[in-house]
Amino acid sequence: MKSTKKIVDLAAHFWSQVDTSEDKNACWEWTGLRNKARGGYGTCYVKRQSRRAHRVAFEFSVGKIPTGLLVLHSCDNPPCCNPNHLRLGTHKDNSLEMFSKGRNNNFPFHAFGERCGLSKLTDETVKDILNESGKTPLEISQKYGVSRSSIYCIIHRKTWKHLNTGETKAKVRKQRRPHRRVVAA
Ligand SMILES: [Zn+2]
Repeated sequence: MKSTKKIVDLAAHFWSQVDTSEDKNACWEWTGLRNKARGGYGTCYVKRQSRRAHRVAFEFSVGKIPTGLLVLHSCDNPPCCNPNHLRLGTHKDNSLEMFSKGRNNNFPFHAFGERCGLSKLTDETVKDILNESGKTPLEISQKYGVSRSSIYCIIHRKTWKHLNTGETKAKVRKQRRPHRRVVAA
């Protein structure tokens, strides 16, 4: 079968450009061209088309990548082509992983609620905040150790909107101008 032979040759040619000298648990880095602008992914040419090396590695070792899915690195090393470090995932998985690993340098991902790495609050705490009655936003902010503007946004349902606890605005007493300055400890 001529076509099968061609695929085998392509694969052999591909793997000859991957540093597989280490064992199967190590990263196998692409030794060819790398796309520095895109985080250092290996670039290879298959049938005259420029492809990301780790995606090709996945196809040669595991199989076809379903449309719309990404090949993600568990090792966080873009030029790595070790199939043991590659898995399928969605754009959403990738974004969440970026956040959890702190790789989100200016990545335009809209985090919300406790998934946002900067959030001091949890879903549970926000539910408590929404159930606070007769307190000013300042009092609530001191109780939970977050800024007054965060509390304002929560009780006016501008943030944490995914928590369905109903309308709670009425329960919160309108803030009066404080007579004395309260300095947060
Ligand atoms: Zn790796």
